[in-house]
Amino acid sequence: MTVKAYGAYAADKPLEAMDIERRAPGPRDVEIDIAYCGVCHSDLHTVRSEWGGTIYPCVPGHEIVGHVSAVGEEVSGFTVGDAVGVGCLVDSCRHCAGCEEGLEQYCSHFTGTYNSPTADPPGHTLGGYSQRIVVDQDFVLRIRHDAGQLAAVAPLLCAGITTWSPLRHWKVGPGSKVGIVGIGGLGHMGVKLAHALGAHTVAFTTSESKREDARALGADEVVVSRNAGEMAAHKDSFDFILDTVAASHQLDAFTALLRRDGTLCLVGVPEHPHPSPNVGALIFRRRSIAGSLIGGIAETQEMLDFCAEHGIVADVEMIRADQIDEAYERMLRSDVKYRFVIDNASLAA
Ligand code: NAP
Ligand code: ZN
Ligand code: ZN
Repeated sequence: MTVKAYGAYAADKPLEAMDIERRAPGPRDVEIDIAYCGVCHSDLHTVRSEWGGTIYPCVPGHEIVGHVSAVGEEVSGFTVGDAVGVGCLVDSCRHCAGCEEGLEQYCSHFTGTYNSPTADPPGHTLGGYSQRIVVDQDFVLRIRHDAGQLAAVAPLLCAGITTWSPLRHWKVGPGSKVGIVGIGGLGHMGVKLAHALGAHTVAFTTSESKREDARALGADEVVVSRNAGEMAAHKDSFDFILDTVAASHQLDAFTALLRRDGTLCLVGVPEHPHPSPNVGALIFRRRSIAGSLIGGIAETQEMLDFCAEHGIVADVEMIRADQIDEAYERMLRSDVKYRFVIDNASLAA
C-alpha cells in the first residue's frame, strides 16, 4: 500500500513530502495508523548523515504511537483499534545472547525502525514520519495511558526507554544521587524517571533559562554547568551521571563529580568525538565511563507501564510535518520544551 510520508532525498536537502510503500501485513504483522511521532535528535543526525551511512530516501521517526488498523492471522494480543507504540527496533535475529535476554538492542542484526536493510521496498526501513507502518507483533508495544495523553506518550518510545534502561541497569533508586546532563528530549525524561524512581536528582544544563523548568520536571537541584562554583559544590558525590548531550564536550567536568566507584554513562552520540577523558581521575576513584543503547522490548513495555501507573508523559510541542526542518534548527539551538511531536494527520494535507 502507498502512504504519505515526510523524508529527505539527500543529506543536504530539506525534508519534503513523499509517497512510500508499506508491505501488506503478513501472518505475524500488526498494521498501525500512526497518530503522532516524536522528533529525536537521532533523526536529525541520521537525515543529515552526521554518523555516515544514511541510505536515501530517508524517512526518520522512531517514537511512534497510533492505533492498530489490521492484524495478521497469527497475531495474538493485539486487535484493531488498540493504542500501540513502536520504538527504535522493528526486528532482530531472535536467537543471539542479546535477543534471548530480551536485550534486542544489543543484537548485531537488529533492524532499526529506519535506515536498516529490509526485504520491503525500497530495501531499507522507513520510519514514523508517515501515515502507517507494518511491524512484527513482537516489536509492538502496548500503551495503557489515557487516550488524551497519546501525543505526549510518543517520546517515551525512544527518549523514555533510552534513559530508563541505564537508570535501571545501574540500580538508581532511593538513596542514590543521580545527575542528568543536558535537559533536552532525553534529559527531561531522565529527570522525570530518576525522580519517580526515588533518586536524589540533579539536573545539569548549559541553559540558565531551564533552571526553573528543571525543578518542575522533578529535579531536586539544578546546576548550570557553565558555572564552575556550582559544579565544584558537587565534587566526589554522585553515584551515577547520565550524559545525554548531543554535542562533543569535556567529560572531565562530570567524572570529577562522581564518588568512588561512580559511573558516568553516555547516551548522547555526537557527530564529533568527545575529547579524551583524564584517565587519572578514573583510576584514583575507580570511576567508570560507560555507554548505553536504547532498551529492549520487555523493558520498554515495563517503562511504558511504569509511566502509565505514575502519570508520566513527555512535555511536548506539537508540529505539522512541514515544520520539521524548522524544528530541527530549533532543536540544535536547545530551543524546545522538551520534545517536538509531529501530528501525523498533517501528512494528509
Ligand atoms: P536534544 O533534545 O537536542 O537534547 C540535547 C541537550 O543537550 C540540549 O537540549 C542541551 O541541553 C544539551 N546540549 C546541546 N548542545 C550542547 C553543547 N554544545 N554543550 C552542552 N550541552 C549541549 O537531543 P536528544 O533527542 O535528547 O538526544 C540527545 C543525544 O542522544 C543525541 O546525540 C541522540 O542522537 C542521542 N541518542 C542516543 C540514544 C542511545 O540509545 N544511546 C537514543 C536516543 C538518542 P541544555 O540546554 O540543558 O544544556
Ligand atoms: Zn531516538
Ligand atoms: Zn539477536
